Amino acid sequence: MISLFRRKPKASAVKKRPTRSNGETVALAIEGEPVSVKLRLNPRARRVIVKVHPSTGEVTVVAPTRAGLAHALDFARGEQDWIARQRARVPQPVVLAPGARLPFRGQSHEIRHGGRNGPAPVCHDAAGRVLWVHGRAEHAQRRLTDFFKREARNLCEAQALAYGAQLGVVPARITMRDTASRWGSCSAARAISFSWRLIFAPDFVRDYVVAHEVAHLKEMNHGPRFWKLVEKLQPDFKPAQEWLRLHGRSLQRYAPKL
Ligand SMILES: [Zn+2]
Repeated sequence: MISLFRRKPKASAVKKRPTRSNGETVALAIEGEPVSVKLRLNPRARRVIVKVHPSTGEVTVVAPTRAGLAHALDFARGEQDWIARQRARVPQPVVLAPGARLPFRGQSHEIRHGGRNGPAPVCHDAAGRVLWVHGRAEHAQRRLTDFFKREARNLCEAQALAYGAQLGVVPARITMRDTASRWGSCSAARAISFSWRLIFAPDFVRDYVVAHEVAHLKEMNHGPRFWKLVEKLQPDFKPAQEWLRLHGRSLQRYAPKL
């Protein structure tokens, strides 16, 4: 699977790590607005750290276990101004509507309303980098969401079957999902799934995620044989991993869950 949070696939993973507290999430009033703050305890933390995610604005406070959650919350309260400043820099969510701009297959496109009638609910003008949405304005969001999900499914399915043919495997099932924590997954029953939000990533990134999950159909681990299979399908996959690490979370900005 490919998780949104990078995990180090080290052989030493069997070594027991100190357990982290699940902590809790509290609402903190910042500039009169309730902001949810995740409080976490970590026995390895040496001091309290407040983090604001640069693409999502999520606030996390990690404190040494001995400090306790109450101390973590106090600390966050003391950093309210800093948190507010960081959050002000976070790009706003992009709702699917005419006038919005978003990276369809990684390339910036503008959504425009193309009138009541069109050849399809959504038409892609690749040269002009425009997505024309037709029909009633109040249906635009749903029509655009349907369009992106369908495009994502078609591209992922075609690529999964092509990669599968290269490795001599056929996925039992391919599904599209909208999970916030994974780009793709592969079950023991050989069913693979992908996040439809990959439609906002460049093609090489989506292809890497597909290659990764298809390779799991043969190797259900992240060992050297697994990576050899990924390499066979996509010889230059490191830039895609790097792209996901740097920009992956920003894909949640588009068509935010309401
Ligand atoms: Zn994996």
